[in-house]
Amino acid sequence: MNAEIITIGDELLIGQTVDTNSAWIGKNIALHGIQISRKTAISDNEDDIISAIKEAFQRVDFLLLTGGLGPTKDDITKKTLAKLYGCGFRRDDGVTAHLENIFARRGRQMLEINKQQADVPEVCEVLSNEVGTAPGMWFDRQGKVLVSMPGVPNEMMHIMENRVFPRIKNRFKTPEILHYTAVTVGVPESLLSKRLEEFELTLPPHISLAYLPAFNTVKLRLSGHADNADSLKSEIDGYFNRMCDVCGDAVFVREDISPVKYIARQLIQHKTKITFAESCTGGFIANQLVMEPGISTVFRGSIVSYSNEIKQQELGVPASVFETEGAVSETCARLMCEAALKKFDADIAVSTTGIAGPGGATNEKPVGLIYIGIATKTGSFVKKYHLFGTREQFMIRAANCVMQLLKSVIENNLKI
Ligand code: AMP
Ligand code: MG
Repeated sequence: MNAEIITIGDELLIGQTVDTNSAWIGKNIALHGIQISRKTAISDNEDDIISAIKEAFQRVDFLLLTGGLGPTKDDITKKTLAKLYGCGFRRDDGVTAHLENIFARRGRQMLEINKQQADVPEVCEVLSNEVGTAPGMWFDRQGKVLVSMPGVPNEMMHIMENRVFPRIKNRFKTPEILHYTAVTVGVPESLLSKRLEEFELTLPPHISLAYLPAFNTVKLRLSGHADNADSLKSEIDGYFNRMCDVCGDAVFVREDISPVKYIARQLIQHKTKITFAESCTGGFIANQLVMEPGISTVFRGSIVSYSNEIKQQELGVPASVFETEGAVSETCARLMCEAALKKFDADIAVSTTGIAGPGGATNEKPVGLIYIGIATKTGSFVKKYHLFGTREQFMIRAANCVMQLLKSVIENNLKI
């Protein structure tokens, strides 16, 4: 079934606010069996709002509106909807109680314009908004459903998740939809599609494969729809496993999570204490890891040993290494991770030393060269890579390389 989105607000048209609402809705409503066939952005103008709604209702039976529900005069969506549906307003008791509660908690006095947020068109059903002051509204007239929600993204998401999605199943006959996602790292989309060419030909019409490339990773999503969820599940399961097998090592995780999140979970689950000695990545990799909640149980702390002096003082890398092989070398990377392992009493230590660019290259050591060292209590090894791209891309690629190395070491029970 198709639906359309209308985003309302002058700020969207003058480029002050980027419309993230429809991207979110399009992505998430698909999981409930509804496709967005068109989206329209319009200003806070009564005639524009009414004509956009009327035109859209000639094409679809389900419309989602965001924006224009604030208490100030520039926001006119609610008033316009009452006019469109030819009804007056009623003050909703539930919304009033919610508003009183919010204002009491904040110790603020409620003004008349705040109280008016509880006024809703008589013919709508209120979609209560626990995370804000403007309620959502559900209009169901003459076989056509219109949902109006605040523009504030987290309020819109709250109303969609808790009020709209549960109603979709009751109101419309939608098919069961299942999505299975695998995340690949380091293999370009074109190569993946070559590998998957034959597999794709085996897919039945109700199961499709989507490539979702992001920087240095490609998500492979299998989506299927059918009337019966159970049989669909076992069918997609089979195709998904086959797809992952065909991709082999390229698949980092058979779930829709980032490589870093996957590694963080593994470390936490196995109680593997980790530390880093980062030179060229300057703490970027440790920072990626600490974004994951719960990491404090295994992350010991780490060192950003950017200069040769710090590598020498804190990690005991002898000056002779800098004079002979240089700081960007296999020996330096090995000594760094081995020293960090002991210094921080960790189970696994990672080191990085390389040339992030754009300057600092020599003939033997080009921009993008990086040595990554891994040490555990059973030994250590260093891997050399030539990464390409900007300084920022270098950091992201380096982090992904580290995650791949960590994955293989963790899968090998930390034996090197
Ligand atoms: P409103 O419901 O019009 O009061 O919207 C309040 C806030 O939500 C404004 O600060 C807008 O910048 C933001 N907003 C409105 N529409 C969108 C949209 N389509 N995507 C992202 N943010 C939005
Ligand atoms: Mg607005």
